[in-house]
Amino acid sequence: NKQVVLKHFVVGEPKETDMEFRVGKASLRIPEGVEGAILVKNLYLSCDPYMRGRMREYYESYISPFQPGSVIEGFGVAKVVDSTNPKFSVGDYIVGLTGWEEHSVIVRTEQLRKIETLDVPLSYHVGLLGMPGFTAYVGFYEICAPKKGDYFFVSAASGAVGQLVGQLAKLHGCYVVGSAGSAKKVDLLKNKLGFDEAFNYKEEPDLTDALKSRPTCRSTCQATWMLCCWECWIGKKGMPGFTAYVGFYEICAPKKGDYFFVSAASGAVGQLVGQLAKLHGCYVVGSAGSAKKVDLLKNKLGFDEAFNYKEEPDLTDALKRYFPKGIDIYFDNVGGAMLDAALMNMRVHGRVAICGMVSQHSISDPKGISNLYTLVMKRVRMQGFIQSDYLHLHPEFLKTIVSFYKQGKIVYIEDMNEGLENGPAAFVGLFSGKNVGKQIVRVAQE
Ligand code: NDP
Repeated sequence: NKQVVLKHFVVGEPKETDMEFRVGKASLRIPEGVEGAILVKNLYLSCDPYMRGRMREYYESYISPFQPGSVIEGFGVAKVVDSTNPKFSVGDYIVGLTGWEEHSVIVRTEQLRKIETLDVPLSYHVGLLGMPGFTAYVGFYEICAPKKGDYFFVSAASGAVGQLVGQLAKLHGCYVVGSAGSAKKVDLLKNKLGFDEAFNYKEEPDLTDALKSRPTCRSTCQATWMLCCWECWIGKKGMPGFTAYVGFYEICAPKKGDYFFVSAASGAVGQLVGQLAKLHGCYVVGSAGSAKKVDLLKNKLGFDEAFNYKEEPDLTDALKRYFPKGIDIYFDNVGGAMLDAALMNMRVHGRVAICGMVSQHSISDPKGISNLYTLVMKRVRMQGFIQSDYLHLHPEFLKTIVSFYKQGKIVYIEDMNEGLENGPAAFVGLFSGKNVGKQIVRVAQE
């Protein structure tokens, strides 16, 4: 049984030499007496960027790291050749987590799906109809809140996820621009995948300018914002109090018992936000820049805890101390280092309301992290997601995408490497952009 194993934990860019191709002596079989397992012949293995995370010694995730010396695991399409599981019969095709080897014994079969749709290429079940396709689907329909006519931009646009996202956006009536890392990919985006525009980001001296020259980013938001604030400044609406009110009730999605953190907490906005959070039943911690302010927060404004951030040598550690279980809601008034530290301490499905970034206003270099202030100026929503939280949508995803594919409404580009021994090179290529389309390794003929 030929296999690819992880040699050691990986630091930095992954290299082919971090993995080893080896030929095991024994052929695999289901061990005597093990019920519910299947023996499969692996046909297609998927190379996915998340696998890099599993090569790290410490990997904070729902899935454990690979161990040095053990076979790499990933999504694959395989054929059942022996079974002690009544749900799977010899000859069935399955998709799910399998080993980077010729044959695998799979015991955790609850994560496998029998492939019913056999009239599309089998390899599509790790791409278009697999995890990357599903990521594109939930990302587009559940997170992007797309509207017909939206200006839509996607990066890594020719990849496993990106190429489908762009096509779904086109079908939805958006104007779609993609970026990719070579002329060949740009050509595919424009001439095969139907994008309205595409550019090679490696040839653009300034990415901000590159996007500006395409009609994706023109908007009147800035002007609207100025007007809104001018009205506010003359005090008609009690601006800071109103900001606290809408920020808390409209943006934070607060729940009783949430761990709530607010920066610049004794300020005009912060002090009201913290009190609203207390009234709502949250556990409230505030940061402020002097002992006097901290005293006010704790003894006059009723915060559960407060600290002077100027006296903390490490903000991430400080927040860990105040929120040992993590933060549900961060109401950000300051941006910069505090936002960075808060992000490190967020809980799963946490919310960050970006109200202001007072620490960033005087930074002269408009690039990098300071562009985050755009979230405020243009009321942009930015949200992380993981496809596996949306598995209830999986049947609808399969139905929709199979139908789009059969009607010729979408195409899918694959980059097929032949042979298990070429698996490490194929995987490593993801991080230099060598892959053109969904990267797959063919282990055996169907
Ligand atoms: P791709 O098929 O797009 O392959 C990765 C591509 O990323 C490369 O081809 C390259 O394209 C680009 N790239 C690699 N390194 C860099 C870099 N340093 N800077 C800029 N671009 C780079 O991968 P997928 O479609 O499978 O994944 C796309 C993204 O989606 C990844 O970030 C992945 O982690 C994420 N993902 C998230 C999921 C979720 O549930 N949230 C699930 C699945 C994927 P180019 O030549 O164009 O630079």
